[in-house]
Amino acid sequence: MAIKNDLTKSANPCFECGQCCQHFRVSFYHGEIEGNGAGIVPAQLTSKVNAHLACMKGTEKGGAPCIALKYSEAEGWRCSIYERRPSPCREFNILSKDGTPNPKCQKLQEKAKATRQAASAGKTSPLQLGGINMFINHYLNEKNEDI
Ligand code: SF4
Ligand code: SF4
Repeated sequence: MAIKNDLTKSANPCFECGQCCQHFRVSFYHGEIEGNGAGIVPAQLTSKVNAHLACMKGTEKGGAPCIALKYSEAEGWRCSIYERRPSPCREFNILSKDGTPNPKCQKLQEKAKATRQAASAGKTSPLQLGGINMFINHYLNEKNEDI
């Protein structure tokens, strides 16, 4: 994912989106956790998946926010452990490796737009987006995937 917290809101669509951090199970090799060799991901923010894999807390089943995802009116969505985020977060971006738009990102941005419209209509607040995403995932019968 592409969220970085040193850019202005308008410079990066991730600030108004934050969806990939609320959609996938964010799983990775446990060696990426601090204390395991060169690992850097804060251990207390992870859950064990199996003998080899861990995931970010909150994303165990997909369709719910990662524990490290934060939101504020001033800054929008941001990753609170940006420099220490795991590899799948570094690899999921707005653009694919060949420079073309990442279709999964585009689809999630459409979902973000729908939830913002719901928020602006007074039906909910942006802080409730995680719950709305769970509803939308169910409605669209989407399969949650690892990244
Ligand atoms: S889905 Fe795309 S635009 Fe949205 S936060 Fe993730 S990388 Fe950024
Ligand atoms: S660690 Fe950061 S970039 Fe990765 S899913 Fe969590 S909030 Fe998003």
